[in-house]
Amino acid sequence: MVSKKHRITASYGPPSPTGPNHLDATVAAALAKMTADAKKAGVKVLVKSGYRSYSQQKAIYDRALRTQPQNINFYAPPGASEHQTGLSADLWDGKVWYRPMENSATGKWLHAHAHEYGFILRFPKGKEKITGVPYEPWHFRYVGVEISRQFDKGNKLTLEEFLGID
Ligand SMILES: [Zn+2]
Repeated sequence: MVSKKHRITASYGPPSPTGPNHLDATVAAALAKMTADAKKAGVKVLVKSGYRSYSQQKAIYDRALRTQPQNINFYAPPGASEHQTGLSADLWDGKVWYRPMENSATGKWLHAHAHEYGFILRFPKGKEKITGVPYEPWHFRYVGVEISRQFDKGNKLTLEEFLGID
């Protein structure tokens, strides 16, 4: 669990980063399988953002503070981003981004099938008070299939609720 309330140190990183997005090796393998199956269904899944270091996150956060303070809740402060763990990825089709992503073919497919590959939608709609982050239809967190299969198909459950921690 990494969040605004549960932060990690600057030196924390994926145990075994791999591939162009430096995701943890287990996550990269699950993502590759999911992407291949999506392709068979005619759906394109691309990684918009994978691993991000503490300093990269700090740069993103500091820039957002300056340029779009009204949207700052979308941005995790350094040490509070799951992207630093290599367990999370922002996914899309290469074209449709932000909220409309949920209605793209890629968004619909991922929201229906990501659970089958060990991923959960980390910031579900209507759960900002619990996660501290507005709805992000693109941000998926790897938790492994044993856990992800216990999440509901409607993507309403949060990791906080599942783990019973604040
Ligand atoms: Zn993200």
